[in-house]
Amino acid sequence: MTTLSPPKTFDLIVIGTGSGGSAPAYRCRAAGWSVAVLDELPYGGTCALRGCDPKKVLVGAAELADWNRRMQGRGITGEAHISWPDLMRFKRTFTDPVPANREHGFEKVGIATYHGSGRFLSPDKLSVDGEVIAARYFVIAAGARPRRLGVPGEEHLVTSTAFLELDQLPPRIAFVGAGYISFEFAHVARRAGASALIVGRGRPLRHFEQDLVTRLVDHTRRLGIELRLDTEATALEKRGAAYRLQMNTRGRTETVEADLVVHGGGRVPNTEGLDLGAANIATEADGGVRVNEFLQSVTNPRVYAAGDVAAAGSLPLTPVAAYAGTIVASNLLKGNARSPDYRGIPSVVFTVPPLAGVGLTEVQAREQQLDVRVKTQDTSTWYSNRRVAETCAMFKVITENQTGRVVGAHLLGPHAEEVINLFALAIRSGIPATDLKHLLYAYPTSGSDVPYMIS
Ligand SMILES: Cc1cc2nc3c(=O)[nH]c(=O)nc-3n(C[C@H](O)[C@H](O)[C@H](O)COP(=O)(O)OP(=O)(O)OC[C@H]3O[C@@H](n4cnc5c(N)ncnc54)[C@H](O)[C@@H]3O)c2cc1C
Repeated sequence: MTTLSPPKTFDLIVIGTGSGGSAPAYRCRAAGWSVAVLDELPYGGTCALRGCDPKKVLVGAAELADWNRRMQGRGITGEAHISWPDLMRFKRTFTDPVPANREHGFEKVGIATYHGSGRFLSPDKLSVDGEVIAARYFVIAAGARPRRLGVPGEEHLVTSTAFLELDQLPPRIAFVGAGYISFEFAHVARRAGASALIVGRGRPLRHFEQDLVTRLVDHTRRLGIELRLDTEATALEKRGAAYRLQMNTRGRTETVEADLVVHGGGRVPNTEGLDLGAANIATEADGGVRVNEFLQSVTNPRVYAAGDVAAAGSLPLTPVAAYAGTIVASNLLKGNARSPDYRGIPSVVFTVPPLAGVGLTEVQAREQQLDVRVKTQDTSTWYSNRRVAETCAMFKVITENQTGRVVGAHLLGPHAEEVINLFALAIRSGIPATDLKHLLYAYPTSGSDVPYMIS
């Protein structure tokens, strides 16, 4: 007769080893809890392995190539070419060590590590890699996956992950969706010598200030990237080594050929395989875990969620996921007391030049009936942009009259991704706009332009 041994039981099981899962795992372990983590992919999560970090290595090369081009006749001669295979090798020096380092980090502090897809069996048990494990608490930090587009032939689309792994860059690349992933990758691909087409049906980069987006769209077109807006991808077909992408623009059908078609059509919470129903964990229609203000499941109190997987009303960004992880850790250890504060979270489109925003757009400020003053200006003639021969530069800063505080800042141009952090600090900490204006900035820096952006 065989006796079934009871499942191994932990104080906490964390599903996902990315930005959202790390803080709960480490902090609860440091408090003496028994903790297990699991991942179905190599340890490290999207940002370090398949997102922000590898992407920005590629963006760095694109920036250099573009700056070199802009400086022709201004003291620089000779073109800079991107060698894609070499760039990929350089990228891998960042990503390759991550899984082993992360896993070792967990093991060093006594966190049990599992590999495989977790699937709930009941409110307190899940199966992973053929084993059943149980816990007092769970943190779901399973991230996001590309949304299903419902387009015939969509199985031929490659994901952002595959794009970031390409050993060779094909000459003709189409991107379906006009979000930040498509814009960033198209900007890189173009600078690396490929032709790029972005097909999008809604407003492009819809979370960003649209006046600046319009400017970036114009610039993107001038770089030779084709943008089809108001256009829906309707079918994808493989023809030999290439693909035929069928599109519909306001009733007009057209087909283009590409060597690679990339999914840039948005991401949704990655909960499909988790069988959340078995654990009584309610989700939103897109699969996001429904949570209360403490990031706890509204239907199963032993479950918390952090990062892209949580329906928590925040943007799917790395700093937000990491921050949510710290809130969850605190609530697990000290009882539900902390709720996330999403004010002043900057976000960036890493095109060349980058587009950055924090706080409200002008439309949002008007919708909230705030009494605001708005300062918008083209800054391509300002010293800091002329010095690097960048012609695409602009800002919009929105200040509330009553409080004298900046409520929204939007920047397009070199170093926008860095300068936006100053505005994020001001918004999050409630620093008056006059303080930003009167700060003594290092000069000449892009930061020293800030006083001239504030009305
Ligand atoms: C191409 C790209 C570029 C990006 N660029 C930026 C950027 O520049 N700046 C920025 O802030 N954000 C960026 N993001 C978003 C950012 O990467 C995410 O917001 C962040 O990584 C989310 O962290 P997370 O912990 O929620 O999920 P993830 O880091 O995705 O971690 C989730 C983990 O859970 C695992 N998992 C899922 N389901 C299961 C299961 N059933 N069993 C076991 N394991 C499971 C997954 O394998 C994964 O490793 C980018 C994303 C992409 C795709």
